[in-house]
Amino acid sequence: PLKLAEISKSFGSLQALKPLTLAIGGGEMLALLGPSGCGKTTTLRIIAGFEAPDTGQVLIGGEDVTDLAPNRRGLGMVFQNYSLFPHMSVAENVAYGLKMRRVPAAERRVRVRRMLDLVRLGQYEDRQIHQLSGGQQQRVALARSLVTNPSVLLLDEPLGALDKNLRERMQFELREIQRRLGITSIIVTHDQEEALTMSDRVAVMAEGRIVQVGAPTEVYERPRTRFVSEFLGTAN
Ligand code: ATP
Repeated sequence: PLKLAEISKSFGSLQALKPLTLAIGGGEMLALLGPSGCGKTTTLRIIAGFEAPDTGQVLIGGEDVTDLAPNRRGLGMVFQNYSLFPHMSVAENVAYGLKMRRVPAAERRVRVRRMLDLVRLGQYEDRQIHQLSGGQQQRVALARSLVTNPSVLLLDEPLGALDKNLRERMQFELREIQRRLGITSIIVTHDQEEALTMSDRVAVMAEGRIVQVGAPTEVYERPRTRFVSEFLGTAN
């Protein structure tokens, strides 16, 4: 489980996050939605530890990780612009995080193979990244982020670069893997359909605040404010 307790963040005079509190249960997938500039990426960057909050705490599995370096937080990340290493093979990309953690080579091979099987790239371990399709590359990125057994997975537009068909298939696959591993996850997406189909709950943000959190159907059917209903396009 993941908890944000009264997180705030300003950039100069801009209050990007106004004390924001959010709890995500173990194994839950939460979609973070909201207009451009509302603070979604800032929220993920604070969870990841790339950005320090001005106030508040980040708790992972009940532990306060607010002052821990990103690589000590037990996180996996798939960001649209968090690219693969183009000069390394598929297996080397996936093994990277394990190497950094000084996992012995024999164990690395076993874990990399298991992850590549999970994302159905078992036959591709020696391929170079540029020899893969967009969807295959996304699956490598997912394998790379999961191989270290993170307790939380952060997804920022993970399927943004894919065309519609592939995107729909990957939504399904990503959700399957997330469920199977029971990994607590947050997905930031501009695609409302994606949020609706992939998540257990959605949180709608506006101007650095969370304005509504609930099951997708509940938020879509009973938007709490005019802003939420207009944003979700269900105004009547
Ligand atoms: P988008 O959907 O467009 O990606 P977002 O909801 O992810 O937007 P953030 O990237 O979190 O929004 O940005 C929130 C606000 O904080 C924006 O107004 C942005 O311009 C500002 N901001 C973010 N990072 C910085 C920074 N490093 N320095 C100054 N301002 C920043």
